[in-house]
Amino acid sequence: MIIDGHIDVLFALQRQQRSFSRESEVGHVDLPRMKKGNVLAAFFAVFPKVSSYSISRGVDYWFQLVDNPENELLQIKRIEDFEKCKRENKVGAILHFEGSGGLESEFHNLRNYHKLGLRSMGLSWSNLNQFATGVGNDEMRGLTIEGKQLLGEMEELGIIVDVSHLNEKSFWDVVDNTSKPIIASHSNAYSLCDHIRNLKDEQIEAIGESNGTIGINFCVSFLSSELNKDEITFEIIKNHIDHIVDKVGINHVSLGSDYDGATIPTAIKDISHYPILLKYLEETGYNETELNKIKYENFIRVMKDCWK
Ligand SMILES: [Zn+2]
Repeated sequence: MIIDGHIDVLFALQRQQRSFSRESEVGHVDLPRMKKGNVLAAFFAVFPKVSSYSISRGVDYWFQLVDNPENELLQIKRIEDFEKCKRENKVGAILHFEGSGGLESEFHNLRNYHKLGLRSMGLSWSNLNQFATGVGNDEMRGLTIEGKQLLGEMEELGIIVDVSHLNEKSFWDVVDNTSKPIIASHSNAYSLCDHIRNLKDEQIEAIGESNGTIGINFCVSFLSSELNKDEITFEIIKNHIDHIVDKVGINHVSLGSDYDGATIPTAIKDISHYPILLKYLEETGYNETELNKIKYENFIRVMKDCWK
């Protein structure tokens, strides 16, 4: 079984006008393909815009998806829910916000969303908001004072901090202002592919030191700066996993595909293809204990450390 740290299926379903419960040729994720891929649960991202209106609409749509019995989804709010998922043969959905823009600085809506089950959040979706600065923006600007307060509130409530879309200054401000494990839910190694969304070695080390984890992203341009989607092999994906393992060990690498939110290599073209990648990893040196950490245990450990 697998826990995927980042899927954008909500956004894709709206854009592509397809249903989650039926297998489609379009997009990367739906219920039948998640089951074929042995995916137990995923962080289902609500795509952030900058207004509280757009967040509440996104959350409404999230619950329309998760509460529809045809979709066989179960909201994960606590660790025990994973067992319930297995028992009931459902797919677990973790409510994740891909940015904090649109939250009020008094944090009343953050507390409300936590009550609705918000369990993980990025501080910025590659943009600049009242709390943080995303990649590709002003490198001198990091977290604001309000952003540091937001981190404190998240820690208090038990919401995991996701640094995937932050610029470097914001990243280091997060490291300096939280005592909890940090995740980069969908980012790769910058030293193998110099995309701004990837992590420098010092950042990988800091996530390791926080006892957090990094979800390997299958987005073509985060895997390789030269190869196209037909040329990327499992080996290229494995190189990013190996690199993180070399730097910080097996306890800090996970899977965060970005399915339905990115251009994906043909070799792993939708979420049903996970078993082929895992078989490859097994044949090329990862044993069962190590694979279980990559597949779900590292995420579970972070959840246990952060959730209340
Ligand atoms: Zn993203």
